[in-house]
Amino acid sequence: MNQPETGQAALSQTSAESRQGKPHRQKPPPVTASPPLTTEEQQTILVQTAKALLATSSPEDLWHIMADASRRVLAAERTAVFLYDAGSVIYPVVEGLSEGYITQMCQQNQLSSTLQLWYPQEPVIINDIYSDPRTELLHEVMAAEGFAAFAVFPLLPPDHELLGVLVVYRDHPQPFTTEDKAAGQMLTHMATLALNNIMLLAETRLSLAREQQLNEIARTLASALDLPTILDHVLRLTANIVEADAGLLGLVIDHQVMMFYPYNVPAHIVLRPAPRGRGVAWEVVQNCETLHIKQYVSHHLAQSKWIEVGVTTLLAAPITVTDLCLGVLVLFNLNRSPKEFTARQIALVESIGRQAGVAIQHARMYAEANQRSAALRNALNRQAELDDLKNKFIQNVSHELRTPLGIIHGHAELLTLGALGEIQPRQRESVDIISRRVRMLIDMVDDLTAMLSAETQEMRREEINMSLLLYSMLDEYRLQAHKVGVVLKAEITDNVPMIKGDITHLRRALDNLTSNAFKFTPLGGTVTLRLWPEDQQIIIEAADTGIGIPEGQLSRIFERFYQVDGGVKRQHGGTGLGLALVKEIVEAHRGQIFVTSKLGVGTTFQIILPVAGL
Ligand code: ADP
Repeated sequence: MNQPETGQAALSQTSAESRQGKPHRQKPPPVTASPPLTTEEQQTILVQTAKALLATSSPEDLWHIMADASRRVLAAERTAVFLYDAGSVIYPVVEGLSEGYITQMCQQNQLSSTLQLWYPQEPVIINDIYSDPRTELLHEVMAAEGFAAFAVFPLLPPDHELLGVLVVYRDHPQPFTTEDKAAGQMLTHMATLALNNIMLLAETRLSLAREQQLNEIARTLASALDLPTILDHVLRLTANIVEADAGLLGLVIDHQVMMFYPYNVPAHIVLRPAPRGRGVAWEVVQNCETLHIKQYVSHHLAQSKWIEVGVTTLLAAPITVTDLCLGVLVLFNLNRSPKEFTARQIALVESIGRQAGVAIQHARMYAEANQRSAALRNALNRQAELDDLKNKFIQNVSHELRTPLGIIHGHAELLTLGALGEIQPRQRESVDIISRRVRMLIDMVDDLTAMLSAETQEMRREEINMSLLLYSMLDEYRLQAHKVGVVLKAEITDNVPMIKGDITHLRRALDNLTSNAFKFTPLGGTVTLRLWPEDQQIIIEAADTGIGIPEGQLSRIFERFYQVDGGVKRQHGGTGLGLALVKEIVEAHRGQIFVTSKLGVGTTFQIILPVAGL
């Protein structure tokens, strides 16, 4: 079993206190020989002592309880507890012995001839300091101190090396019996077990506190705080948890390690970025490995400014995410506590480094996503602005064109009708051309305006019976069919479910499809209009037996101004806006439009609209 860290601390603290605050008595007190105890009496004291030992939680009290009991149970006048800590001797309890004697013993305890006395594995009983060869070199000092016999009991916890010894002294030459020896052994055994419990308890408390701190670190890393606050907090918690005096956190930015969040770093220290390839931080970042410098002063990477502030030991662990090293967590101890970091503390800091790496990456990804979405938002806003500008432009141009076009059209009509006098046949031809072209321009302006209002959803939402609408349009279409020599057929289901929408827009869409059908169907061909309901939808079809559309261009005919035969010598009039407008109107009614066509056979447009109430 290893000595718990707290145990050593507790032991050292005890010794410091006893040396400074609670000096032992300078001179031996007047002593009286106690009468030997019966075995029964010894056992009663041992039982009481066991209870007291179990009840205490302080190592210092424990040594006093043990020493007091040893005096009573072994009928001794004096007692002392010596503890061995990293090569030095400390003595938390000294009763009835002079300081001079204690100092001499502490100096002599390393002499080879006295080793078996002061480092025993079994109790050592010296019943007569004068005659026992083991005290040959010591009996003068001992005699001067005034005791005649003594017993040394090792403090040897199970599975542990020797902690120290309990020594009991008798001033009268009364030999220690076998029972005395057993009682002394029992006492030290009980004390070491109780000490073990105290250490375990302290370690458990410490583990609990560490776990709480670790939980706090995990919570902080996962919190919604901003990254600098998180990292600052984590560095402080980490320094606390590994009992480091101070710390820093470095992040790799633009090929440099920038140092942030100084914790307990003296204010006069200027934190400069570590350029590539220099210093402890770069060493860690480059190798992505922890660096534990046990003697900073003599390390080849040491910097004078840090030596001057008293850095003694340093621990630098990489902040990583997958194989990438994002930075470094640096913790150090100063002169006031020059201790090294333990393997456990190193593992802990490494694990925090990995958690911090994930947190940093998340924060960076989040910031990046935010940036992208802001850029996207800006682009969309810009797009909306441009759309708005375009719409306003179309609106203005349409408005400005409509009046002069109307006037030109009116005057052309006047000329055609002869209201301004008879015109020659050649003049009539020109006027007819003017009339036709102006009509085309007026249609185009109308289409543009209609498209705009469909696009901006400026539409009425009224209930429409599509059967009635189609019937009402049929008469007009019949006239047109007759004019162009095409057969018109209608297959209309009566009373299809109502749809909701704008009757003017829908009518315009159907007009466009039908006039296209007439336009692209040669003499003698057929145009068929159909309407039927299907699954909460109504379907409208305009089919013709016309020239058809090449397959490769079917996907483009709904684009604005797109015409299959768009050359200057094209046979059919039009602006290329009609189908784009139809699509806008259909989609504004939450519907869909499809086209199927075969060159030389014909074309069918199908519109699907949802019925009202859906
Ligand atoms: P346009 O004013 O030119 O008719 P549209 O947007 O209405 O513009 O139609 C786009 C193009 O689609 C037309 O120029 C034509 O080439 C093709 N098209 C539209 N309807 C038909 C049809 N029923 N038959 C053959 N081609 C058609």
